[in-house]
Amino acid sequence: MKEILTTCPYCGVGCNFYLQVENGEVKGLRPSKEHPINQGSLCPKGATVHQVIHHPSRLKRPLIKEGGSFREASWDEAYGLITEKFGSLLEKYGGESLGLLSSAMATNEDNYLAQKFARAVLKTNNIDQCARLCHASTIAGLISSFGSGAMTNSIAELADSACLLLIGSNSSAAHPIIANNFIKKALQRGAALIVADPRGIELAKRALVHLPLKPGTDIALLNTMMNYILEEGLHDEQFIEARTEGFEQLREALRSYTLERGAALTGLPAEDIKRAAELYAKRKPASIVYCMGITQHQIGTGNVISIANLAMLTGNVGRESSGVNPLRGKNNVQGACDMGVLPEYLPGYRPMGDEGARREFESAWGVRLPEYQRVIWCTRMWDEILAGRLKGLYIIGENIAISEANLSKVERALRSLEFLVVQEVFLTETAEFADVVLPACTFAEKDGTFTSTERRVQRVRKAIEPLGESKPDWLILCELAQRMGYPMDYDGPEEVMDEIRRLVPSYRGISYKRLEEGFGLQWPCPSEDHPGTKFLHKERFTRGLGRFQPVEHRPPAEEPDEAYPLILTTGRILMQYGAGSFTRRTPSLERANPENFVEINPEDARRLKIADGDRVRIISRRGEIEAVAKLADIRVGTIWMPYLYRESPANRLTNDALDPICGIPEFKACAARIEPKK
Ligand code: SF4
Repeated sequence: MKEILTTCPYCGVGCNFYLQVENGEVKGLRPSKEHPINQGSLCPKGATVHQVIHHPSRLKRPLIKEGGSFREASWDEAYGLITEKFGSLLEKYGGESLGLLSSAMATNEDNYLAQKFARAVLKTNNIDQCARLCHASTIAGLISSFGSGAMTNSIAELADSACLLLIGSNSSAAHPIIANNFIKKALQRGAALIVADPRGIELAKRALVHLPLKPGTDIALLNTMMNYILEEGLHDEQFIEARTEGFEQLREALRSYTLERGAALTGLPAEDIKRAAELYAKRKPASIVYCMGITQHQIGTGNVISIANLAMLTGNVGRESSGVNPLRGKNNVQGACDMGVLPEYLPGYRPMGDEGARREFESAWGVRLPEYQRVIWCTRMWDEILAGRLKGLYIIGENIAISEANLSKVERALRSLEFLVVQEVFLTETAEFADVVLPACTFAEKDGTFTSTERRVQRVRKAIEPLGESKPDWLILCELAQRMGYPMDYDGPEEVMDEIRRLVPSYRGISYKRLEEGFGLQWPCPSEDHPGTKFLHKERFTRGLGRFQPVEHRPPAEEPDEAYPLILTTGRILMQYGAGSFTRRTPSLERANPENFVEINPEDARRLKIADGDRVRIISRRGEIEAVAKLADIRVGTIWMPYLYRESPANRLTNDALDPICGIPEFKACAARIEPKK
């Protein structure tokens, strides 16, 4: 049996394991004991990922839809049809009529080529990926505060924090190895844990302070904590003076956030807010860990900026075991952003509107880049399609028919497209809408790199040949580009990485050769002799001075009323991943949570005459679904659901109100009601 070291394709923690291969088949896997993050352990998702690689429902040949159903086709026929359809849309309506969504599960090399294909071949800047749904507000917020949108510190540093503020992050479910190997280690070493979450999540039980705030009131909480810190003189004057700008404006804006007002807005006891503020300001170094409970709001960017304000106010950034740590959901969502799969940025976060950057990429790629006039985030594409402006879409590995907000609108848009290509491993809910489906292969069948949440670029290594006629994404993109008349010809992913290194300064020192020497390198790594960067903003912020920006509390776009008296919020569970395309095909994971459920406070349940285990209808202004009621430790007036179940998709209910700065939808708060199913 051969063993091939590779990186987990699920979450952003970036655990490593050896795929065990016999006779060209993956038979099992063994976690790497030496890896600095997983240290011999894996969560239930990573531990079972090998079970899905040879799943009988893998797509093995291209499919073309005819008369409403799919038939198998050759690659030549599929490429021919795509070239003809995209070519004719391009000729008639220009690149503005086309769009491409790439995948945060694909490698950096795949993603780099996807955005190059969109910009150079389809001549469109309508390119995006699922960071728009999870951390678009992190990128917008942290770039404006610090100059860099990435996790400031490293995962392992969390274990040495004296205080951890976990806000909007159920780490035990979404990033279990971080919770188990580092957050719990910090607690064993005496760290104080503050958990801000409307649910009594596993880590809330171990917290010194649990703040079950009303969804959508994070800014009110953070501003109140900061105002109290200032009133008590617990801020770090020296750090503020030497490293930041805009402090006086922030101080002024915070004055109205008294403990009484903060308590009224958040629904929390003033005493608990005070205690949390004291712990965070006094126990240094303190780390903030956050996730989608912060980012997925129409004021998501403001939430992130508030977090950055709090860290700078107390001098908890730019030093070891402190910082602002957004945990990325998917394995390579950090990398997909780094590679420029964003309409606002070219690779390496070079602004698309920056003439110098445009010229550099135009000269490297030998093309003229599309004009940069309107930014069409993926969350805006649905309206663009329904308005008849966007006519052709190419989706690589994203199951948006499960993961986008307000699914009924998304489905209407997918049905109205003139031409849809989906490149996938399985015939997902999204692929069902396609005109052409191209069979892609899994992480086990290709080479490349993923960049984890801590900016660690790690190797993905090919363990077996692609199944059937499936191909790696990078190769499909190159073959299609050639057919469409643009030369994209590489020997393999290493050559693609060499091009990335030439164009992206923070990846310059990250060669495949160096990646063989250990467990990856953390960017920025500007040269071949640079060891990589453990934590950012050490002596200066990426933008120079850290920037305080006042942010005001604003309630969610939809507040409870008589017709919809509850707040629905959604999230992830331990035994499933993403939109479920892989994990719902893994029998042991599926057995653990076979059907969707809705968590409800026992007091709300009693009032609504709902018992634990009852089937209920959950209704919002956008739709209705059914699930099983589960009485749980959750704030009164709030209900919570996982979003990945196709037979009961919570996103049929969620609100597609967008953060106007970054386009992230408000997944985390919409008005809803529950009724017992008759
Ligand atoms: Fe994979 Fe994330 Fe689980 Fe690690 S924690 S095994 S990276 S899913």
